[in-house]
Amino acid sequence: MAGTIVIRNGSVYDPLNEVNGEKQDIFIKDGKVVSELSDADMRDAKVIDATGKTVMPGGVDSHSHIAGAKVNVGRMMRPEDGYKATMTKTAITHSGSGETVPSVYMEGYEYSQMGYTTVFEAAVPPMEARHTHEEMRSIPMLDMGGYLVLGNNWFMMRYLKEGDIDRAAAYVSWMMKTHKTYGIKCVNPAGVENWGWGKNVSSLDEANIHFEVTPREIIDGLTEVNEMLGMPMSMHLHANNLGHPGNFETTKESMKISSSVKAKQNMDLDWAETKIDASRDKSVYLTHMMFNAFGGTSWRDFESGVKPLTDYINSTDHVVIDSGCVPFGEATCMTGDGPSIHDLSVLTGGKWSNTDVELECGSGVCPFTYLKSNPVHSTQWAMGLECLLLVDDPWKTIMTTDSPNGGPFTKYPLVMTWLMSEKFRDQTFSECHPWANDRSTLGGVDREMSLYDIAILTRANTSKTIGMAHRKGSFGVGADGDVTIYDIDPSKIDTREYSDLINKFSTAEYTIKDGQVVCHNGEITMIPEKRTYYTDASVPDANEKEMLKDVQEWFRYYSHGFNHYPTPENYLVNPTAIKVNTEK
Ligand SMILES: [Zn+2]
Repeated sequence: MAGTIVIRNGSVYDPLNEVNGEKQDIFIKDGKVVSELSDADMRDAKVIDATGKTVMPGGVDSHSHIAGAKVNVGRMMRPEDGYKATMTKTAITHSGSGETVPSVYMEGYEYSQMGYTTVFEAAVPPMEARHTHEEMRSIPMLDMGGYLVLGNNWFMMRYLKEGDIDRAAAYVSWMMKTHKTYGIKCVNPAGVENWGWGKNVSSLDEANIHFEVTPREIIDGLTEVNEMLGMPMSMHLHANNLGHPGNFETTKESMKISSSVKAKQNMDLDWAETKIDASRDKSVYLTHMMFNAFGGTSWRDFESGVKPLTDYINSTDHVVIDSGCVPFGEATCMTGDGPSIHDLSVLTGGKWSNTDVELECGSGVCPFTYLKSNPVHSTQWAMGLECLLLVDDPWKTIMTTDSPNGGPFTKYPLVMTWLMSEKFRDQTFSECHPWANDRSTLGGVDREMSLYDIAILTRANTSKTIGMAHRKGSFGVGADGDVTIYDIDPSKIDTREYSDLINKFSTAEYTIKDGQVVCHNGEITMIPEKRTYYTDASVPDANEKEMLKDVQEWFRYYSHGFNHYPTPENYLVNPTAIKVNTEK
């Protein structure tokens, strides 16, 4: 049940409505933001006095790995994780455990404690969609959706090699509906398929085995399909050569591929009011840029390659990135990029898991620890922050740790505080290996982000980038009544006192979802309704028929039958289709 609530006199940060710390009241009726409440409504409304507090729309995470097969493999590979963090059961919550890969219930509670209400799972292999939805269904507190991994899909590669964009688009639209997924994810295009033969690709123009398609052709084709369909979010790219020294050159060239394609989001739904245009204007959303911004030629001359990339991003308007920050400590690396995880496991000599998902994609998992004493890890810490601080326009950036690859999402408060406090960065420099300073430009950066910037990086721009700004990430009339209240008085912020900021970001005073208080000072107070979003795009019937003939013919190579392939709607909690109008 949605709630009615008034949040009085808080310092409001709502970038999509250009509200920068002004004292305002927020009114929510039946779960939606309204301009005011009638006297009758006021009698039933809960009132929170937010004087001297920071009020933002509920947190929106556009890239996190919290549901699905590889996440579960991560849990199995890290039994020790369960001893490090635990949650006891209460009258309304389940127990839970896990530091880098928490159990499903705990994931929901922990996000809620930090003020988040919406999280998108960054990689759903089509064949694993049912499992992913089963986990998403069990994660409480959060509205969710998942991105479908398509960059090494056999049908996709064949269509793009043949230049058959119509059939490629028909396939994407059918796949989104079939698997109830939300956007296009492209992981190490052409390379993951080669990994099936123990190989990778190392340049954008290297054709892969059998399909003879290049990364460039796949990135180009997927961007075109994305805009042809009018998808909610930008094509989501995990570039080639991840984790290899010198990979920044490939990353820069990869971003350029989508520069000629114009963003054309085309959703058929009601939009919450916003002062600035909330529709997406970027044709590529590059993810965890830090891992693709390595300079040097080996681990010996390793250095940050972030600056050339941010220079490029500053000079153009079609790219948005998330950072993939490294907050130090335990992590569990997991990605659809199987070969990159293999390389990492060779470095660590520890546990390693690899999966080949038949005709579609693959994945790898490898536990990892980032140490302040390690020269490369220290440089990576600095690089993650460079990704965000060296891009002038915050509307081109999103804060992530690529959880749990750079570190778990529970460390976001550290990252937010490093962005806001030069003193905290200096303190960390003094604790970690000198390479952090010597091999990056971070030491020369004196920018300190404001609460307004943080609201862009964690709410407004994540929503805008993934096409959720019609209901998330703002306090515009008609938006979902999702709110975070931090016990931070903007007039008294002293960024030298950074421990205070870390604590306050870690435990929101209130997390409100659909107008109801769901978490108060870290205590889960109710389990709200949740929704799962997916994209419903259509193409001309004839194209879909032609495409389906292909798919059914090739389905004989799958280990299971065609009828078992789709994920039925009953796997989802409150399935919420985002209608995309390809005709308009
Ligand atoms: Zn990721």
